[in-house]
Amino acid sequence: MKLLAIESSCDETSAAVMVDGVLKSNIISTQLIHTEWGGVVPELASRAHQKSIIPVVTEALQKANINKNELNAIAFTRGPGLLGALLIGTSFAKSLALSLNIPLIEVNHMQAHVLAHFIEDPKPSFPFLCLTVSGGHTQLVWVKSALDMEVIGETQDDAVGEAFDKTAKLIGLPYPGGPLIDKLAKEGNPDRFPFSLGEMPGLNFSFSGIKTAILYFLQKEVKNNPNFIEENKADICASVQKSLIDMLLRKTKKAMKEMNCTQIAIAGGVSANSGLRTRLTEMGSELGWEVFIPAFSYCTDNAGMIAMAGHFKAEAGEFCGQDVSPLARYELAAKPLA
Ligand code: ATP
Ligand code: MG
Ligand code: FE
Repeated sequence: MKLLAIESSCDETSAAVMVDGVLKSNIISTQLIHTEWGGVVPELASRAHQKSIIPVVTEALQKANINKNELNAIAFTRGPGLLGALLIGTSFAKSLALSLNIPLIEVNHMQAHVLAHFIEDPKPSFPFLCLTVSGGHTQLVWVKSALDMEVIGETQDDAVGEAFDKTAKLIGLPYPGGPLIDKLAKEGNPDRFPFSLGEMPGLNFSFSGIKTAILYFLQKEVKNNPNFIEENKADICASVQKSLIDMLLRKTKKAMKEMNCTQIAIAGGVSANSGLRTRLTEMGSELGWEVFIPAFSYCTDNAGMIAMAGHFKAEAGEFCGQDVSPLARYELAAKPLA
């Protein structure tokens, strides 16, 4: 089975080729245009996808050494994401599938983030718990099988990636700030400024309070010392990162206990965070968990994970028709509609 996969849900245009479950290429073009606006501008994202999609797909096919006429199916991200951005990938996938007379596979982007764990060894076995932490989501997912997942806890407001990015903005770092906080945090003292987060009941999260807490804290400090941020950037980053990770790990530990589970996986853009990777690994060895951490290239948005999800769906015979349309909101547990 030769599969082409397309991802266009946010600000990465990506295409991948997978042959019989083995990833042959995974080309990712990250849109840099949003940096100057301090966040993703949906209309600019759609236009950039339009511009990049043909070169990205061409490169993915070339790198995999596959001619488009050899393809057996096309998988694409149907949602969740920015509707205009999703439309570019969806329309492209539909047109190419129509012209090649091959079937389509619609993929849920959040399911694909979890399934990124099956691209390379070591792979978790079912069932396992996955903490999905990205720019738009923070979810504890009970993964019963490749195509059967249940959200057992999630954020009630901002995603943790958003909390990273918004804090970064407050201290003058460019978008996306998550990776920059990670970098600066390495040189800082995580216990210098204890920022507290609101605690949600059960397995749910809340991350919207931290940016207000930090904003007020910075306003107060800057009044006394105009250079406060510059002089304490690393300590601020380390402290914020610690508060966010504490919250993620506290709920993860609780969920692992409730589910009587010993395998934990992390997925999504924030799973690239070195602090989270280290502390989860430490917690895992302390509590006897098997910890699964994806390679960096499969953490943030990429079509390789869409191909992996497409592969599982093809095996299950889950194809869709040409009447499929993108979904800005797409629940993880929702049954696919044609
Ligand atoms: P979703 O998957 O929920 O639709 P998205 O696709 O925009 O959202 P991803 O591409 O999975 O999200 O992740 C992007 C997020 O990951 C951004 O918020 C970014 O700041 C964050 N991120 C990436 N690398 C790191 C890092 N090293 N430390 C912290 N955050 C990071
Ligand atoms: Mg992105
Ligand atoms: Fe994503």
